[in-house]
Amino acid sequence: MPIFESGTVWIVGAGPGDPGLLSLLALYGIQNADVIVYDALVGEEILLFAKENAELEYAGKRGGRPSPKQQDITNRLVVLARDKKRVLRLKGGDPFVFGRGAEECLRLAKENITFRIVPGITAGIGGLAYAGIPMTTRGTNSAVTFITGHNASGEVPDDINWQALADGSPVLIFFMGMAHINRIADELREAGRPDKEPVAIICKATTPKQQVLISTLQNCAADVASSDLIPPALIVIGEIVNFSEELDWLSNE
Ligand code: SAH
Repeated sequence: MPIFESGTVWIVGAGPGDPGLLSLLALYGIQNADVIVYDALVGEEILLFAKENAELEYAGKRGGRPSPKQQDITNRLVVLARDKKRVLRLKGGDPFVFGRGAEECLRLAKENITFRIVPGITAGIGGLAYAGIPMTTRGTNSAVTFITGHNASGEVPDDINWQALADGSPVLIFFMGMAHINRIADELREAGRPDKEPVAIICKATTPKQQVLISTLQNCAADVASSDLIPPALIVIGEIVNFSEELDWLSNE
């Protein structure tokens, strides 16, 4: 394993929840860090691997209080590194998938602080596997698209080209889309995707509270509204969803 030097920062992906999905490098970093600055979507069990005297700093939303500004988090990483700590920035899934990992690395680079990036299993991949949905099969799709349903102000991003998505990507995987599922489904149907196209909503994927709702493009918004599903959730749209009926190994365990 590489040496985790004092005064350096590791930006680590914690995976979607199940501690078993951590990489060996992530685990080693967590076990050796002096300070772990972690996000809301990081599973609690994962923090149990920290060494006994490690400081655990929470950098997400809690109890309705506003989340710390991204700049405050990056400032904190800089201060801790300058203080000669082994700093581990722990993020849900993969740090570079809708995770602002790049912003943090750019700042560290600017400050000449040595950093390492440890990729994680993104929810977009691990979550599908735990719902028994193959990301690709030869018979269904030769492309997949990851999309965020949420921009910095919480709205559906303006720059989504719905027609291009509907025409060009047989499988669409939306992150942060639950609040806008109505709009997402309507835009895709207007752009020509069939009403009956299968949709899966995967909540709290890979955790003991995982829930999967199977629906269609036409019904998914109403089905979510009348469900008790709680984010974080992925919305998976495409024929691959049909495989979950046979491949949902987790519910059949
Ligand atoms: N970097 C993360 C994504 C951060 S954006 C990754 O690679 O997974 C946050 C969004 O990710 C959530 O709104 C949700 O859409 C998705 N997400 C993260 N963890 C999840 C989980 N355990 N189950 C379902 N969706 C999850």
